[in-house]
Amino acid sequence: MAERYDVVVIGAGPGGYVAAIRAAQLGMKTACIDSRETAGGTCLNIGCIPSKALLQSSEKFAEAKNGLTEHGIKIDGANLDLAAMMARKDKVVTTLTRGVEFLFRKNKVEWIKGSARIAAPGRIGVTANGGASQEIEAKAIVIATGSESIPLPGLAIDEQRIVSSTGALALDRVPERMAVIGGGYIGLELGSVWSRLGSKVTVVEFLDRILPNMDRELGPALQRLLTRSGIAFKLATKVAGGELGNEAVTLQLEPAKGGERETLGADVVLVAIGRRPFANGLGLDEIGVVRDPAGRITVSENFETNMPGIYAIGDVIRGPMLAHKAEEEGIAAVERLAGQQTEIDYDAIPSVVYTWPEVAAVGKTEEELKAAGVEYRTGKFPFSANARARTNADTDGFVKVLADAATDRVLGVHIIGPDAGTMIAEAALAMEFGASAEDIARTCHAHPTLPEALKEAALAVAGRAIHI
Ligand SMILES: Cc1cc2nc3c(=O)[nH]c(=O)nc-3n(C[C@H](O)[C@H](O)[C@H](O)COP(=O)(O)OP(=O)(O)OC[C@H]3O[C@@H](n4cnc5c(N)ncnc54)[C@H](O)[C@@H]3O)c2cc1C
Repeated sequence: MAERYDVVVIGAGPGGYVAAIRAAQLGMKTACIDSRETAGGTCLNIGCIPSKALLQSSEKFAEAKNGLTEHGIKIDGANLDLAAMMARKDKVVTTLTRGVEFLFRKNKVEWIKGSARIAAPGRIGVTANGGASQEIEAKAIVIATGSESIPLPGLAIDEQRIVSSTGALALDRVPERMAVIGGGYIGLELGSVWSRLGSKVTVVEFLDRILPNMDRELGPALQRLLTRSGIAFKLATKVAGGELGNEAVTLQLEPAKGGERETLGADVVLVAIGRRPFANGLGLDEIGVVRDPAGRITVSENFETNMPGIYAIGDVIRGPMLAHKAEEEGIAAVERLAGQQTEIDYDAIPSVVYTWPEVAAVGKTEEELKAAGVEYRTGKFPFSANARARTNADTDGFVKVLADAATDRVLGVHIIGPDAGTMIAEAALAMEFGASAEDIARTCHAHPTLPEALKEAALAVAGRAIHI
């Protein structure tokens, strides 16, 4: 007889594994299925975690090579041991994926390794990685199958010379020249890693600025700083094709608006033009689960699809493709199943680009406020006027606070600068609580710390910053 569960989650990424653990905490008999050998999905295996491990290591290398002289520290002969750096990254990934397996055991979530296919609402076929198949039953099915990289026609990914983010996380040598196609966060983070390790990196972006989805001031500011660190940019440029030669890959570039072509040679090309929802093999069309034209599974406020008892969360539905967004949705979906009224404030979901300096944002951009006709006031404060940034010798960047002109409620916070990714948590908390700029401005911030720049930007909304 088929094993019967209250909840079966398909996908053990940050959306799926968190949903499964929360469901089990709420007393539901839960299983989580994933076709990977290890838990943690894209994020832990080939995404957030390995990329941040390499960003951290490469940042330390760049600092050891030439970043410490300002502090009066000279290091002669700092050398790269790429194999050791990669081994550390792999160890971090293994530790964290095993951590998820431990949490499954602790919470009595049954982890089933295999590919899932939904036969009908309440019925799932699982083909184990060894080939054996079984059918299981569930009162509720939560689809958390995530996303995959979008390929660029004409440039077949071989993960050696033409790589996706997955290949770029595992190169066995530093390419002399790397072309990064796409100026979003994945291309910029991985381009930063290889640039710091010695590659001559060129980022090619179709639009006229990098980080096109963020506040208009952030992309150009980051571009200036990355250019200073040695990365080259070709904006408003289209990759029209590529040829794999014996030695190098030659990309054909042309202006986005049309015009004369040029070529760009590279030893490795990273294709990072975005990600798309992944639901292959689930059998959604056969059972009639509705998707939008972009392939995202359509869900209600309760994360329920058009088929009763089938839910979806994370990268496979609408909204930003971010691990923490997937986690919140996983929790909300199963808490709602348990009768709780959990809400997610999508305006308070932060996003972070882990370059140096970091870029982080929460809430609305200026462009979005203008388009919506919202009257707002802006407060800005540069890190060059922040005492801690001075002591750290990290003075690039600024904090920008956008507040409603009538109510002073914080509508958006945009930061480029040291530890922006850590600082944005305070802004997200403020927005979650519906804080005004004055609330942040009147909150005592320890001195000397970087978050004082957020306080000063909040003061600047009312024209009363102290240190500028
Ligand atoms: C290089 C890179 C860096 C990133 N960095 C960050 C970052 O710093 N911060 C951040 O917030 N986000 C980051 N992301 C995005 C983040 O990884 C995703 O938003 C997140 O993993 C989405 O979680 P998810 O649970 O929806 O799906 P996923 O993590 O994609 O997990 C889906 C899982 O479902 C499994 N699956 C799919 N189909 C089936 C099936 N039929 N049967 C069984 N199993 C199946 C897959 O094997 C996979 O393990 C990064 C992504 C990449 C590629």
